[in-house]
This record gives sequence, C-alpha cells and structure tokens, in this order.
Amino acid sequence: MAPMGDNVVVSNMELERLLSMKGGKGEASYANNSQAQAIHARSMLHLLRETLDRVELVEGREVPFVVVDLGCSCGSNTINVVDVMIKHVMKRYEVLGWQPPEFSAFFSDLPSNDFNTLFQLLPPLANYGVSMEECLAANNHRSYFAAGVPGSFYRRLFPARSVDVFHSAFSLHWLSQVPESVVEKRSSAYNKGRVFIHGADESTANAYKKQFQTDLAGFLKARSVEMKREGSMFLVCLARTSVDPTDQGGAGLLFGTHFQDAWDDLVQEGLLSQEKRDSFNIPVYAASLQDFKEVVEANGSFSIDKLEVFKGGSPLVVNQPDDASEVGRALANSCRTVCGVLVDAHIGDKLSEELFLRVERRATTHAKELLEQLQFFHIVASLSFAQ
Ligand code: SAH
Repeated sequence: MAPMGDNVVVSNMELERLLSMKGGKGEASYANNSQAQAIHARSMLHLLRETLDRVELVEGREVPFVVVDLGCSCGSNTINVVDVMIKHVMKRYEVLGWQPPEFSAFFSDLPSNDFNTLFQLLPPLANYGVSMEECLAANNHRSYFAAGVPGSFYRRLFPARSVDVFHSAFSLHWLSQVPESVVEKRSSAYNKGRVFIHGADESTANAYKKQFQTDLAGFLKARSVEMKREGSMFLVCLARTSVDPTDQGGAGLLFGTHFQDAWDDLVQEGLLSQEKRDSFNIPVYAASLQDFKEVVEANGSFSIDKLEVFKGGSPLVVNQPDDASEVGRALANSCRTVCGVLVDAHIGDKLSEELFLRVERRATTHAKELLEQLQFFHIVASLSFAQ
C-alpha cells in the first residue's frame, strides 16, 4: 500500500518504476475497464491486417515468427490482438501453401504491470504439431509461445533484428516522465493550479510536446535496431485534432475537467495543499499528426505506410446511458484505472479515495454532456523499413 498524505513528490525517475494500470480483477482494474480500448481496437483491425500483409514471409523458416505487444497491460485486449495477428499471418502462410513457422509472442510493459493477472488470462498452449486447420480453429487455445518482457519501450528491450511485428496500442501517449520544468516553481513552464496541460500555458504544453517527441524518438531508435528488415510495426496512441497542444481534446476532457475540479475540491476543503496539487501532473500527451510525423521523419529509418487520425469514440462504456450514476461511476473508474496508481502514490490511498469519489459525483451531475462530448481520437501509424 502506498504511504499516505504527506509523502514526497514522485520523482521523474520513479515514474517508470511506478506506472501501471490498475492490476487485479476488481471494479477499477484495467482488466474490467478496458472495453472501450477493445472496441476502438476492433474498429482498426482492417488497418492492422494491412500492416501484417506488408510483412515479407519466408518459406521454410526454422526460427519462430516473433510478434511483440508493447504496453500490453493486464487485460484481455493484448491477448485478443496477438491472437488476431498470429492467425492472420498463419492464414497468409496457408494461402501460399507453405508450412507455417512456430510463433512466439512477447507481452511487454513496465515492471510494475500486473503480469500475473495477464498470464492467468492466457489460454493454454495448443498441442503444437497439430494441423494448421486445427490451430486456426482453436479458439480456446493459443498457437504461440508466450513470454513477458519488463521494461520501458523508450529503450532497447529485444535483441537486434529479432522481431517480425511490433504492435502497440493506447500506450505511446504515456510520457517517460513529467518534464522537470513543469514541476519547477521558477520555470515559465510551471503548471500552477493544474494537474494536466489542457488549458495550461503554452510553455507548459510545449514542454510536454518536447518530452513526447524525445520519447517517441527513443522508441523508434530502439525499434529500428530490433525489428527485422522485412518486418512491420503498427502503432496507435491518443491524438488531438487541434494544432494547439493546450487543447488536448478527449484526454483534455478526461483529465482537465471533473478530475481537475476534484483536485480543487480537496484543496478548497482543506484536505490538500495547493502545492501538493500543483506538483501532480498526468504524464499523458495527446499528439497531433504533425507532432508524430516530425519524429518519424527525423528518425529516417522507417517509411510511413499509413499515418492518420482515426476517430475512436467514447472511453465510457455503459449499459444504461440514461443512468447518470452509472455514467459518473464509469468516468471515475476510467480515470482511476489509468492514473489511480500515480494518484495513490502522490497523496496516499485515503485521499485518493476521496478524490475519485468527487470525480464520480461531479461526473454524475454532468453525465449527459460527458456522453455527448467525450470522444477520443487516435493516431494510427503503420511503419516498415525505408528501402
Ligand atoms: N495495449 C493495451 C493496454 C493499454 S494501457 C490495450 O490495448 O488495452 C497503456 C499501457 O502502456 C499501460 O499498461 C502502461 O503501463 C504502458 N506503458 C506506459 N508507458 C510505458 C513505457 N514507457 N514502457 C512500456 N509500457 C508503458
């Protein structure tokens, strides 16, 4: 359990050690709050398949075909997408009339990810050596060897030229750190009064943009060593449609309205100091297509097969849209799933509980607007090696 109340600000180096989506299988866990990502991922499957079709297959290969999911988290989405990818590649082999290779899938995330929950969700390994038809038909078995890889995707994770397909969904908008200038009181980028960059000063948002671009550059550099020459990469992360980084779109609504107000409530009620609030910042950045493209072009290793902004939809999945309390709870749970661990570490579990109660209350009162206005957009990128 995280310490309570007056513990120190999470230092930037610690973010990598600390960040994770809520583990386990409880109400606010990622496993139970990732249906929206599942829906958004499903709507992009045709783009993923196009990326997989670009991978050059080799006949009679003796080494396994390697698929990696970066930022896999601890829900079933990663397992479903890996299954789709491997079945698609198998089918391509079948169409060519070639014997398929063995498959290896690496599930990768930061070390505090709940890999145990993820591993328990994995279906048992199919009987290797059975026919391809049986493999393709087997829904409750996996036809690949699985392993977990802990570490930051902003650095090297795999041996050189060892990966055929990299996939990463809904993860690259997480920065490796909150830029130091944003928590430095004397800096012009100091994010006074806010916990996110939505509606913040331009210099604060620009510090985030710079961090995003530095991080993405590190990501691409590492992958350019690890990916096989004939491989391919499919990336999805939060996007904004405005050119202005202080307008964070859906992410702005999620972290910049009721969540922000709930922090202000705690300050006004005397439960939290202003300083403590101001030293908390959500390390998420919704990039514009241009922000993203500049980095890919500067890296130079990859050709862009596809780069577009794709409308994802709402992050709130509710059974009864007319039930304001269900909508309020869904918003609070969505927030808590993704940033609850960071909030707990910053203000302690007890105040964190109070904070999310206020998020829920405020969101319940604004349920209708939330359902109408909360929309996510995603950047979808399909990259392969430049010739
Ligand atoms: N891909 C999953 C989960 C997305 S949640 C899905 O589609 O449902 C985002 C994940 O990115 C989290 O599990 C988080 O821990 C991970 N993440 C954030 N920063 C990371 C980093 N630097 N390196 C590796 N994983 C990271």
